[in-house]
Amino acid sequence: MIDALYQSDAYLRTADLPILGSHEDGILVERSLFYPQGGGQPGDKGQIELADGTMIPVLTTRYGPDRQSILLVLRESGAPLPDAASALAAGGTVTGHVDWVLRYRFMRVHTALHLLSVVLPYPVTGGQIADGDGRLDFDIEEAGLDKEALTAELQALVDGDHPVSQEWITDAGLDAQPELVKTMSVKPPRGSGTVRLVRIGDIDLQPCGGTHVHSTAEIGKVEIRKIENKGKQNRRVRIRLSDVDAV
Ligand SMILES: [Zn+2]
Repeated sequence: MIDALYQSDAYLRTADLPILGSHEDGILVERSLFYPQGGGQPGDKGQIELADGTMIPVLTTRYGPDRQSILLVLRESGAPLPDAASALAAGGTVTGHVDWVLRYRFMRVHTALHLLSVVLPYPVTGGQIADGDGRLDFDIEEAGLDKEALTAELQALVDGDHPVSQEWITDAGLDAQPELVKTMSVKPPRGSGTVRLVRIGDIDLQPCGGTHVHSTAEIGKVEIRKIENKGKQNRRVRIRLSDVDAV
């Protein structure tokens, strides 16, 4: 059973992580402050610290086999594991340090995308979060979306300083309220009998397993960078945090 520290406290930067087992790409843990790639949000990077102070970079984070654990990836594709990592085995413990600068940007972009789905209340067919920017794809027919007007609406929601909180609903409860699901491309995180809902003040409530800021004001200055036509009923809306340089 995964102990998702990144959900219970997205602001946690350091935690001791018991090793569940080794893996050709790194180590498996059940308790993790590193977010595993999913739902359009990249896996976390960071470092693990061994008892003797040795630091090993965590290159990314994914779910382990059958999604029963979390894999901290410690080697580049095709490269061998670092020597210090080869010795790690079940029963040991490492201290995880998340790359907080990157993670906090993911949290800000992720939360901003929830607000974008409030500004544009249409079915979401896809989405992606990146370092300082992100996008949602909407199933909307009419063109003529006004970038400046939408940016102003989005910024007003950010500046409204709405609290972000989580609650839980049973699978059956969610089945009874299908209108809660806005994102068609990402299945709500089911499997444990309950689904996590993320609430933003009284303006948004939807299933989500990702990481968010505590209050929308933390998003800061945000802008709609581009609106692309990706087919008859698909508009791709890209947002960016204004204080992060475009890559
Ligand atoms: Zn979310």
